[in-house]
Amino acid sequence: MIRTGIGYDVHRLVEGRKLVLGGVEIPHSLGLDGHSDADVLCHAIADAVLGAAGLPDIGHYFPPGDESIRGINSLEILRRAVAEITALGGTLNNVDATLIAERPKILPHVPLMKERLAAALSLAPSQIGLKATTNETLGFLGRQEGMAALATACIEMPHPTTPPSS
Ligand code: MG
Repeated sequence: MIRTGIGYDVHRLVEGRKLVLGGVEIPHSLGLDGHSDADVLCHAIADAVLGAAGLPDIGHYFPPGDESIRGINSLEILRRAVAEITALGGTLNNVDATLIAERPKILPHVPLMKERLAAALSLAPSQIGLKATTNETLGFLGRQEGMAALATACIEMPHPTTPPSS
């Protein structure tokens, strides 16, 4: 059966951190803060994939208090999300994501981001939708205090077994 999931994530922009989006390091004066590499796009996509299968969010699999995963490459989180649905007999059909960021320009980096996301998700780049928009200078996103990402995922899963009636 076809199932869909959604994901949303926000990270704070700070000085002295790399900006990593969709597995690609992007030159910028600020970077996203977080326990991992803070790749907000990967986190939203991972939650969409897990959510489509009814699984818990990425904080369950990668707890923020776990020192062993400090600075982890978030493409690894995507690989884990796909492994979790694959273990349930699921197949990922496609993902679609939107990054909300005032700066820098994301478009030049989209082809490489799609390539890296596709490799981590075991998809073809054509199965990944990736857009970026600004927040029209409004709110915390508009003030460049952070970046947000939204994602959806569509998966094919075996039909759930009906619990026996007692
Ligand atoms: Mg996150």
